[in-house]
Amino acid sequence: MTAVVSTPDALNFELPEELKLLKRSLREFVEKELWPLTDEVESSDEIPASAIGKMREMGLFGLPFAEEYGGAGIGELGYCVALEEFGRASAAFSNLLGAHCSIGAMALHLDGTKDLKDRYMPQLCSGEKLACFALSEPGAGSDAANISTTARRDGDIYMLAGVKHFITSGDIADFATVFAVTDPALGARGGITAFWVDLNGPGVKRGPKDRKMGLYGSHTCELIFEEAKVPADHVIGKVGSGFITAMKTLDMGRLSLAAGCVGSSQFMLEKSIVYAKERIQFGKPIGKQQAVQFMLADMATEIYAARNMVYHGAWKADRGERFSLEAAMAKRYCSDMAIQVVDRALQIHGGSGFMKETGIERVYRDSRILAIYEGTNEIQRMIIAEELLR
Ligand SMILES: Cc1cc2nc3c(=O)[nH]c(=O)nc-3n(C[C@H](O)[C@H](O)[C@H](O)COP(=O)(O)OP(=O)(O)OC[C@H]3O[C@@H](n4cnc5c(N)ncnc54)[C@H](O)[C@@H]3O)c2cc1C
Repeated sequence: MTAVVSTPDALNFELPEELKLLKRSLREFVEKELWPLTDEVESSDEIPASAIGKMREMGLFGLPFAEEYGGAGIGELGYCVALEEFGRASAAFSNLLGAHCSIGAMALHLDGTKDLKDRYMPQLCSGEKLACFALSEPGAGSDAANISTTARRDGDIYMLAGVKHFITSGDIADFATVFAVTDPALGARGGITAFWVDLNGPGVKRGPKDRKMGLYGSHTCELIFEEAKVPADHVIGKVGSGFITAMKTLDMGRLSLAAGCVGSSQFMLEKSIVYAKERIQFGKPIGKQQAVQFMLADMATEIYAARNMVYHGAWKADRGERFSLEAAMAKRYCSDMAIQVVDRALQIHGGSGFMKETGIERVYRDSRILAIYEGTNEIQRMIIAEELLR
């Protein structure tokens, strides 16, 4: 038997220098440019246009995309590192970025024709135009294969009819990746097609913004298609391959969503450590109490596990390997972890955690959606089980 040599470099957990640099510059950007806006975003339910302008200047809207289109070309690991840092900002910002980069424009980037990508990716990478992802419908959420929006071919165009709902950034996006039925007999296996749709075109209406529990500053709304005309060359991928495009895109989205969970949880842990050292009760810092120490220990342990899951999934993605299993596991675990971590952070902060000033109640509200969107955690368990039993 040949000797097995284990060296410290056999498995390298060190981020490359350029990603360390990216992490540092994003940390600075979030703290300097975005933190001061948190209260304004929360009370006005809007992201100031100037902040979107600064995100554009930083090149954030092109982070995961190829350099030939003006993107940063930093791969899935780089993008996850970036979203981890963004997780420290108000969720409105990471949602804006996620709806555009992780899913909205990602579908086009993954499966669009060269012509479509050449035409649209540069303006999407610069952030001049924003994209969203429109799969969910009032009658088809978890059961996404059961959508009823239709696309009927008429010469060189498709006529889109139907309603998408809960669409993040649906109110402000210029374009949407829209999934519609082109062959009802085939269903998800060849009967759904993805379209690149101009949301300012005729036949497209946007509903009023939904009233939500949290995520203020990030809006969802209905997108209503009433015989909206979409050029036939705006099909993303092949006619009938839309469900595959949706699943591939969601694999990317789930991994980066999980990265955001790691970032927001890390931030909650850091705040809790500071508070545990400062807050005196019974004549000593609450951090001297084992009950509080155990909460901190569990938070740190789970964040450590979560981060490694995300990085491993991203590593597989960047190697061109299939990572649906890892993405579903990371989304399920990291979102549940983030919800639990912020709950413990709130508990450690006592009554102050319930007050607006500490900023924890906002993260508590904003985190709850993580177990629901981009596929509920029940659906993630179904995907994981399917992958295991294939
Ligand atoms: C803030 C927000 C932003 C969103 N952004 C977008 C977006 O940008 N684009 C987009 O397309 N969609 C978006 N969505 C929609 C989101 O993806 C769906 O809400 C989600 O997939 C769940 O669908 P549903 O709400 O219809 O719940 P349902 O599918 O009705 O599920 C209800 C409950 O039943 C459970 N359930 C359903 N089926 C099963 C099953 N087979 N086995 C076990 N349990 C099951 C679910 O897990 C859940 O607990 C967003 C939603 C919200 C709230």
